[in-house]
Amino acid sequence: MATTIDFNFRNEVIKDNFSLSYCFQCGTCSGSCPVAIVTKGRYNPRKIIEESILGLKDSLVNKQEPSVWECSTCQLCVELCPQNVFLTEIFNLIKNKCIEAGKFPEGFKAQASAILEYGMAVPFQDAILRRRDQLGIPKLEMASANEIQTLLKETKLDKKIKYDWSKKEG
Ligand code: SF4
Ligand code: SF4
Repeated sequence: MATTIDFNFRNEVIKDNFSLSYCFQCGTCSGSCPVAIVTKGRYNPRKIIEESILGLKDSLVNKQEPSVWECSTCQLCVELCPQNVFLTEIFNLIKNKCIEAGKFPEGFKAQASAILEYGMAVPFQDAILRRRDQLGIPKLEMASANEIQTLLKETKLDKKIKYDWSKKEG
């Protein structure tokens, strides 16, 4: 099948993060990446960088081969890259493109929805809070969920993940 090079996409990534152009494909990132090791090479950060250099938007955004969402953002590749390529920052741009295209994991939507609803990705359970009280552990300081919602609405996060506000109100 023919491969389509998207020059606009490539230029956009390089403009956003010029370090992309320093990569000489040594493979140190994929050789050290814990996710690449666990997935036996199915996830491959070197390949994501190669596809970015080549402007293969279809592979990166539509097919997600490899999927940029599998990166755990541990930053080991960034620490070890001999060319100081900021891999995870480049991945952030690609993730934003995936979100624009509506292609992101359900787990991400669930976490983002929890932050919109409760102001935190993993809300405290009432049972845990009661247990803390019983044990005399000091009350937890919580940020205002309303303030967080206001900030996130400004970034249009709710629209990007198609958050259903009627669910919350109902
Ligand atoms: S370690 Fe750096 S230079 Fe080597 S392939 Fe990965 S991004 Fe490119
Ligand atoms: S930041 Fe992502 S790509 Fe880099 S080593 Fe960690 S999991 Fe792998």
